[in-house]
Order: sequence, then C-alpha cells, then structure tokens
Amino acid sequence: MNVHKIAVIAGDGIGPEVINEGVKVLKEVAAIAGDFSFQFTYFPWGCEYYLEHGKMLPDDGLEQLMKFDAVYLGAVGYPGVPDHISLRELLLKIRKGFDQYVNVRPVKLLQGAPCPLKDVTRDQIDMVVIRENSEGEYSGAGDWLFKGKPEEVVLQTGVFSRKGTERIIRYAYELARKTGRTLTSISKANALNYSMVFWDQVFEEIGQEYPEVETNSYLVDAASMYFVKQPERFQIVVTSNLFGDIITDLGAAIAGGMGLAAGANLNPERIYPSMFEPIHGSAPDIAHQGIANPLAAIWSASQILDFFGHEVWGAKVLDVIEQAMVDKKMLTPDMGGAASTEEVGDEVVKILSALQ
Ligand code: ATP
Ligand code: MG
Repeated sequence: MNVHKIAVIAGDGIGPEVINEGVKVLKEVAAIAGDFSFQFTYFPWGCEYYLEHGKMLPDDGLEQLMKFDAVYLGAVGYPGVPDHISLRELLLKIRKGFDQYVNVRPVKLLQGAPCPLKDVTRDQIDMVVIRENSEGEYSGAGDWLFKGKPEEVVLQTGVFSRKGTERIIRYAYELARKTGRTLTSISKANALNYSMVFWDQVFEEIGQEYPEVETNSYLVDAASMYFVKQPERFQIVVTSNLFGDIITDLGAAIAGGMGLAAGANLNPERIYPSMFEPIHGSAPDIAHQGIANPLAAIWSASQILDFFGHEVWGAKVLDVIEQAMVDKKMLTPDMGGAASTEEVGDEVVKILSALQ
C-alpha cells in the first residue's frame, strides 16, 4: 500500500477549522480508493507557538518536515504578531528552504460558486496560473540610501536568474504540452527594460522546444483587463512572482472568492516536500465560530491528490464540491449561505462515500 506522509501545520485562526475538513476528505478518498492511504502528523506551529516560544517553528523545523512527502498548511497570522514575522518565518522559510519554486493556482469557476462578473459561464473561467515563487521582484534585494535625508533613495531590485526563469517557464510549457492547452506569458517588457525583456526572451527560447504548444504574451495591465472582460482567453498562464501574486488574487475574485482559492507550492523534482494551502489568511474576525468556508482547504486537498498521481480522485473532489454547492446548497455565510464549516465538510464526505 502506498502511504503518503503528510505534515499538517493547521496554524492559526480559521486554519485548524478548515484543515480539519480537508483531512476528513482525504481520509474518505483513501478509504474508498483502497490502494493508497494518508498518514497525518500534526505540528502546532504558528503564531500561538510564537507567542509562547518566541519563534514560529523550532530551529530544526525544516529537518523535521523533510521526512514527509508534503506539507498541508492552514493559515498563519494573529492579531499582534506582525505579518513579516508570521509570513517570513514560517511560510517563506518553508517555500525557500524547500525550493518550492512553482506556485500553482487554479482559477476555475465551479458551478454554484458566486461570480462577480455578469454573463460569464462556467467554461469561460478555467485556467491555471503558474507563478514564479522563489525570486524575481520578491528577491529581497535592494538598498535604502540617505535614510531620512532630502536625497533619500530606495532601491528594490528584481532578480531574474537564467536558471530561475528557465525552470518556471519550462514547468509551464510541460504542463501545457501534457494537457494540450494554450500557454500565456504575462510580463511587462515595455516598462521593465531588463527583467521583463529577459523574461520574454526566455519564454521565446524555451518555446522552440515545444512547437506543439500554442502560446501568446500579454502585458500585465492588459491581462488584468482581460481577466475581467474575457477570461476565456487564458488557459495556462505563466508569470513572475509579483505579477503572479496580484493576478491570482484577481483570479480568486472572479472564481468565487477567497473561500474557494487554493494554491500549491511545488518542488517539482521532489527533492523536498511540496506544500499545499488554502490561500486565504487566518481571518481572525470569523475564527472559532465554525463558519469559515472549508472549500479552499478541500480544493487544496484535491491538489494533494493530483500531486501524488491520483488525478482521477482530485477531479472527483472538485465535482463533489460542485454538487455540495449546487444540489445541496451547502454554502457558508461568505458565499451567501448559512451552513457551518463542519456541515460543508460532512456533506462533501457524504457525497464522496455515496460514489462507492
Ligand atoms: P491574515 O492576517 O492571516 O492574512 P486576514 O484576515 O488578512 O488574515 P484574509 O485571507 O486576507 O485573512 O481574509 C480577509 C477576510 O476574508 C477575512 O477577514 C474573512 O472575513 C474573509 N475570509 C477569508 N478566508 C475565508 C474563509 N475561508 N471563509 C470565510 N471567510 C473568509
Ligand atoms: Mg491578510
């Protein structure tokens, strides 16, 4: 039996509430499938841990996680603990330490999900955004000169290495080839005259190796407009760290909101564990009330299934989410319903078990 070892960092606020439902779903899928199983190990890391120990995770935290096949993360953040600590010391530490250079964000409008766009049908919003996750505009390089003086100058440097740029673009081409979908590069070469000119050049170069992949390129400003006006233009999208960050929030907004948005941080070579998470934060305003939407966490559970080669089950979980929303009207308050976190998770498990 194939056993997938998952390290669960449920985190803060609504993190544990939504992860609980995702774990239930993964257990149910494994029970039905019968030929694989999950072994979950919980780590109490996050902001509460920080308040007690002065750090988000122990010094050997990454070493402990190395023994697992994947990390399933809820959310970190706590009123009183600054974002730069909660994010940098945990999320970014894992992303960087495990070289999770691919951020995969599905932007797919499921049936029953609330869409703010008028006259858009389900098949018009169905894309996957591949965001560079390790360098680019978020490299952290820069300088702050003459601080507080009249001649003060601040520099924030984007770092685009050949290796880093090639590997993310190649990942996207491979995905486009495998799935037979078009590939769109989003950049901004007319204004960023080094980094984005280079990005476009590498996109062209790698494209020579994939003549069967249909491609196009958009400036990020135009792409943002088309995300709203004609989202059907996009299938697989590849873009830099900053543009990916922004455009995937736009993507989340058009495809049902934060309560439905999932993201995977992949180390495709599988040298290190990959990490799967609902992309929303810890939402302290609704924590401990049992009303958080667990569907983003359940969607990231479906990404875990895909990653381990159980794509058929990953797709089934998405079908079941749709059924729960459309047939059973199982919606949490953020989507206009009155269901609790647990009721939604239970319904998903119930529909799954009926598939047997
Ligand atoms: P953090 O400080 O951890 O980022 P946050 O409050 O900023 O937490 P966001 O993800 O940015 O969290 O969410 C903003 C708001 O959206 C939340 O305050 C909450 O009201 C709502 N929200 C986010 N995720 C969910 C969810 N899963 N279910 C319901 N509402 C949510
Ligand atoms: Mg936030």
